[in-house]
Amino acid sequence: MTQLIDGKKISQEIKDELKEKVAELKEQGIEGALAVIQVGSDPASSVYVRNKKRACEYIGIRSESYELPEETTEEELLTLIEKLNKDPKINGILCQLPVPAHMDENKIIRTIAPEKDVDGFHTQNVGALVVGQQGFVSCTPAGVIQLLKRSGIEIAGKNCVVVGRSNIVGKPMALLMLRENATVTICHSRTADLKAVCKQADILIVAVGKPKMITAEYVKEGATVIDVGIHRQEDGKLCGDVDFEQVEPVAGAITPVPGGVGPMTIAMLMNNCVEAMTR
Ligand code: NDP
Repeated sequence: MTQLIDGKKISQEIKDELKEKVAELKEQGIEGALAVIQVGSDPASSVYVRNKKRACEYIGIRSESYELPEETTEEELLTLIEKLNKDPKINGILCQLPVPAHMDENKIIRTIAPEKDVDGFHTQNVGALVVGQQGFVSCTPAGVIQLLKRSGIEIAGKNCVVVGRSNIVGKPMALLMLRENATVTICHSRTADLKAVCKQADILIVAVGKPKMITAEYVKEGATVIDVGIHRQEDGKLCGDVDFEQVEPVAGAITPVPGGVGPMTIAMLMNNCVEAMTR
């Protein structure tokens, strides 16, 4: 029978472990605070920001909200980030992406102090991942590793195919699987015969951003399938990049959408916040 990888349950376990750790740190006089910046009022971003603040409350760290109007200048935002960089009470800073079009996203990411970059997007943290040094790792791919490990799925020596090469998901995902000793292939829009490449995978990780693109034809019998995608369909229901109904009978293990990778992102953000407290 296909194993359903339960991200809701695993993310709850992680948050409960973090809650205990935060309580221990508090006893030693170490307090945590995350600064959450949102520019503009994109409804999806507002939901993410609210959930992040709720998670902080749950594990027992303070969150400070900075809700800036859409017309905020880049300079004003950078000044705020620099002020937060210097604030010893703030351990983590995150700026909800995307920022409005008149701002340079890369410049904003670069301005956040690497030791407070709990999203793991700063080039210093990305570089640390490449060379195998300690640093903050992008939350969604870090969450996938936890899903696999905590579901008892062996990674070392396995053929892993990652579909997607974005800076936030695909590339760090591939690097993390490499760190866990998988043999890794990265696919993208120019990959020739994607189906045949995916069919080689023992672990297929999909972050392609196309609803239900991955059908049963892409999947080897018994493979583990991790679906990072998330899309709202016309009927209001959520779906992933994988056609779950078709792929589930073929796969050995699979993540559902919702309730798979999604909840792990915030759990791993909280993990990075606690790590920032202990550094
Ligand atoms: P991007 O759009 O940045 O990247 C998509 C990648 O898929 C690109 O590398 C692109 O290739 C590749 N791609 C696009 N079309 C094809 C194709 N037909 N065949 C092969 N490769 C293709 O997306 P993200 O990485 O930001 O996100 C991916 C998905 O994950 C989205 O659905 C997003 O909503 C979801 N997501 C979910 C999160 C969560 O918490 N669960 C967090 C972040 C993202 P190329 O580089 O050549 O253009």
